[in-house]
Amino acid sequence: MKKTIEDFNLENKKVIIRCDLNVPIKDGVILDDNRIKMSLKTIKYAIDNNAKVILLSHLGRIKTLSDKEKNSLYPISVRLSELLGQNVTFINETRGLVVENKISNMKPKEVILLENTRYEDLPDRKESTCDSILSNYWASLGDIFINDAFGVSHRCHASNVGIAKNLPSGIGFLIKSEINALDNILNNIKRPYTVVLGGAKMNDKIKVINALIKKADYLLLGGGIANTFLVAEGYDLKESVYDKDSIKQASRLLKKYKDKIILPIDFYEYTKYCDSKNKKYCKLNLISDDNMVLDVGEDTVKLFSKYIKESNTIFFNGPVGVFEFENFSYGTKKILEEMKCSKAKVIVGGGDSASAAIKFGFKDSFFHISTGGGASLEYISGNNMPGIDIINDK
Ligand code: AMP
Repeated sequence: MKKTIEDFNLENKKVIIRCDLNVPIKDGVILDDNRIKMSLKTIKYAIDNNAKVILLSHLGRIKTLSDKEKNSLYPISVRLSELLGQNVTFINETRGLVVENKISNMKPKEVILLENTRYEDLPDRKESTCDSILSNYWASLGDIFINDAFGVSHRCHASNVGIAKNLPSGIGFLIKSEINALDNILNNIKRPYTVVLGGAKMNDKIKVINALIKKADYLLLGGGIANTFLVAEGYDLKESVYDKDSIKQASRLLKKYKDKIILPIDFYEYTKYCDSKNKKYCKLNLISDDNMVLDVGEDTVKLFSKYIKESNTIFFNGPVGVFEFENFSYGTKKILEEMKCSKAKVIVGGGDSASAAIKFGFKDSFFHISTGGGASLEYISGNNMPGIDIINDK
């Protein structure tokens, strides 16, 4: 059992909380504030216990100057102030004299949010490579460190592992509830255990598929991942998204686990990656030239439902189609509906799967909706979680 925020005396202490405030933002407007709301319990606990609260978070990926402009945490400080019902002071720096002076003048119950930790990734990825000078510097700003950012706990970054190496540390309520929910399933898997895996990118998922396939009874694949497996089986997916570099590995997995891997058999296709009422239905072997598949069809949903109905445990990570486009959201919506009606304990991975579940009205339909996409996938696969592993046990 890891140390938690409740194991520390926070009175008058400078408490650094690494939150996951990485929410979708368009033109400065927050599209979904679920992750901010999920962070409130730990922040409020620190305030109620008279801590001086210093918040860190990343937002998006920072590779260019224009990424910086789009990914300031300022709008999040505004929403957080509203949700907390008290002022959150935003500092548009990640280090320096202004940061140090503001923090040294803090009073108990005050809350400060520093700028996006990944600003430190430009130019030389100090945050993402867990740079030791940056880690020491951030740790020097506080007395206690609380990691509550489940969504990045599969990464070894300066703002989680780096600070934890240098300060007395614990986990917050969000990570605690994620661990409890995921362990509840993992420690007593009721079979059949089915994993529904979708999304566009294959290359970052092949490692976890290797681990998951050994644990699960069935792997139902959708999206670009399924496309890669179908190409490995010899089908022509025309202009659809798939990952050339993973075809060999997909082929090897298909040979070894043929009965476990279930692939789509029909689709909705279109000429371009965009929303359109002019989509066309097609069978797997009849995808039109120059078209790409953007959603699964009715026969695939029927096929997947058979396995979903049979299952006692389901882990859903990654939409089976481009759910953001109304005309290609059918498959993901239907799979969510089938999972809701099944007898299975269902865990929904974070990121796009959580957004889809919330968008289509399934917020309260499942055993657990994780705040971490990649993180929940790694955790369920039994891989290391550096951001959690670094925290001492009680
Ligand atoms: P990932 O970040 O790899 O989990 O990918 C999530 C994204 O995959 C979502 O934004 C979906 O719109 C997208 N997606 C799902 N199915 C497809 C597909 N057939 N073609 C292209 N993108 C897809």
